[in-house]
Amino acid sequence: MTSEVIDGVSCTQNLKAALAREVEQLHRRGIAVGVATVLVGDDYSANIYEQRLRRLAAEVGVEYVCRRLPRQARQSDVVAVIEGLNESEDVAGILVLRPLPPHIDEADVFRAILPDKDVESVHPENAGLLALGVPRFVPSTAAAVFHLLDTWIDSTGSERAEFYRRSHIVVVGRSNNVGKPCVSLAYDRQAAVESIDEWASKTGQLGRHTRRADVLIVAAGKPGLIAAEHVSEGAVVIDVGINPRVDADGRTHVVGDVDFGSVAPRARAITPVPGGVGPVTDVWLLHNVVTAVRAQRSAGVREAS
Ligand code: NAP
Repeated sequence: MTSEVIDGVSCTQNLKAALAREVEQLHRRGIAVGVATVLVGDDYSANIYEQRLRRLAAEVGVEYVCRRLPRQARQSDVVAVIEGLNESEDVAGILVLRPLPPHIDEADVFRAILPDKDVESVHPENAGLLALGVPRFVPSTAAAVFHLLDTWIDSTGSERAEFYRRSHIVVVGRSNNVGKPCVSLAYDRQAAVESIDEWASKTGQLGRHTRRADVLIVAAGKPGLIAAEHVSEGAVVIDVGINPRVDADGRTHVVGDVDFGSVAPRARAITPVPGGVGPVTDVWLLHNVVTAVRAQRSAGVREAS
């Protein structure tokens, strides 16, 4: 089977242009659009994500600040930074980059974010709204996954609702920020949904689950976890993983959770890493910041800057 490569970079062109236009319209009305990231420690993937967001924000006219804290920062230091950003009129959206160092309680940190500025829906109030199918913000990675799927379905000439209702979607990984939101969005589309975590691998059941997938979404953070034997002929495979790999020459590059070389020949369509889900995620995050600006202004939370 010749598989189609779902190209995230070309998919972002229209999204990026629409985002830049929206930011420009707000600027003309004297309204600034600002986002802040919080980065604790020096995780490779978190740093890569931070750099990508910084570049994109500059490209589309969004004001961007990254608050960096050392790896040993105390929980109270991280919460204090978030409380400062909650108060700032220059910041409409706050993103805490993961992973946080193990001594930091992630749930406590997420609870500190003002729900109106929680553009990744990690605060329990927003996570609850998402689970109920009425999200304030759709988390950017899950939004990117389904934007790529929707776009690809359209390109085949199929009807989206019909495609999803007939599909069995398997999501590998059930983190609060990626796996579970993907499950929620798959439910919203009336697909049959299966969610699996590390136990599936530990008990030797991974392939039994993944081979059932018409659409396989992989977000485990394990390079090359999914190989040809885990995928049925004709499945659509979306690889969310972003994992650093050091080459023999000492250079670090990024690989996904799917072994692209062996899986692509079996798949009907597949996303690459890099250049798949990642670029769409970045645009979606900033799109959520624009949504936050508009909502905060209509609620009277922020004044024109
Ligand atoms: P995470 O918080 O570490 O969660 C990983 C999930 O995968 C957990 O549910 C874990 O199971 C499961 N898992 C781990 N090993 C597994 C295995 N061998 N078999 C089956 N399930 C397994 O990671 P995350 O934040 O969701 O991120 C996942 C990956 O996506 C990472 O590579 C990350 O860098 C990447 N990412 C990409 C984007 C993007 O825009 N492309 C955005 C965010 C994250 P347990 O629950 O049992 O531990």
